[in-house]
Amino acid sequence: ATAPDGEGAFAGLRLRQLTKEFAAFTAVRAIDLDVPTGSFFALLGPSGCGKTTTLRMIAGLETPTSGSIELAGEDITWTKPYRRPVNTVFQSYALFPHLDIFENVAFGLRRRKSSEVDRKVTEMLELVELSNQARKRPAQLSGGQQQRVALARALINEPQVLLLDEPLGALDLKLRRSMQIELKRIQTEVGLTFVHVTHDQEEAMTMADTIAVMNAGVIEQMGAPADLYESPQTTFVANFLGQSNLIEVNIGSRAADFVTADMHGVPVSVPTARTHADGDKAWLGVRPEKVLIGAEGEALEAPGHTVPGGVISDVSFVGVSTQYLVRMPWGQELQVFEQNTGRRSLFRHGDKVELSWRPEYAFLLDHSQDVA
Ligand code: ATP
Repeated sequence: ATAPDGEGAFAGLRLRQLTKEFAAFTAVRAIDLDVPTGSFFALLGPSGCGKTTTLRMIAGLETPTSGSIELAGEDITWTKPYRRPVNTVFQSYALFPHLDIFENVAFGLRRRKSSEVDRKVTEMLELVELSNQARKRPAQLSGGQQQRVALARALINEPQVLLLDEPLGALDLKLRRSMQIELKRIQTEVGLTFVHVTHDQEEAMTMADTIAVMNAGVIEQMGAPADLYESPQTTFVANFLGQSNLIEVNIGSRAADFVTADMHGVPVSVPTARTHADGDKAWLGVRPEKVLIGAEGEALEAPGHTVPGGVISDVSFVGVSTQYLVRMPWGQELQVFEQNTGRRSLFRHGDKVELSWRPEYAFLLDHSQDVA
């Protein structure tokens, strides 16, 4: 019983310097991760970043090259997969086609007393809202229902941690959205630790308490969805979680939590917790929905700086919002999403506009990083 952030016993799942090399290729590079008990944790990243390999090491299906895996203070790095209090739900549900739903869910319990099996299966089918489907075969269910059977089958063994590898990947968008809410409900109800792998940022943000963003085998940033979105620390995170305008600036003087910067001749101020020295180049990031747009000379009401000289180069009306591309005097196109309030007519291609945003909505990133 040490402090949760100390190196002593930790009740949850803890990865330390976990590494996996396939011949000369490092798929997972010295990952450190603490997943608190009972949390919904998402490993988010693009294809090939090492999410599945990390999950498979936790499950024991892949042997780490180095590093350790601990669960509830116990080192399980070399524990056989079936001896780990961990269960996995894969994208391919791997249900037994010749067994009905009840028997699929009961499968892992068949060595127990039948009255107990009946009770537990009934309970699980209720949890995933499939009580009335118990005597059907998997092929008679929809994709979403089959996924819930796979979930019930994994949960019935009462693992400490449930691993989910793109479990909703095979479902269409609408069903995915409803299953996301459903999964979250089930996780809250059973109170288990879920580690969910996905490349879908919206899915991770909808469901997870904590997201670890992975890129090329490392964790770029970890935190609550809103913190990652509002304060990305790398250009990769800024672009992977939603969209960002990244504008080159020259750092000027520093005052308390803000620095002033020169943005292609426009003075701006940006919050910063880090040391950016006077004269350094940096990226100023601002989300498209945080940018206000007005006609040239309209004097926008935002208590920010006005950036003049924009020309509309593209307009997309998408119902809830209108998405503009605005070409700035320094040649860069910025994205601006304006919520559709029906307040006024849209700007059109070629219109002259000015932009503005509140200084606290912008963020600063190191210039050494790529802006893909
Ligand atoms: P996806 O979403 O596409 O599954 P991922 O983030 O889960 O991607 P991994 O499956 O963990 O990625 O793979 C990470 C990298 O390791 C990839 O470049 C992959 O080609 C490589 N890799 C995975 N398994 C092996 C293996 N058995 N042998 C060699 N390379 C592998």
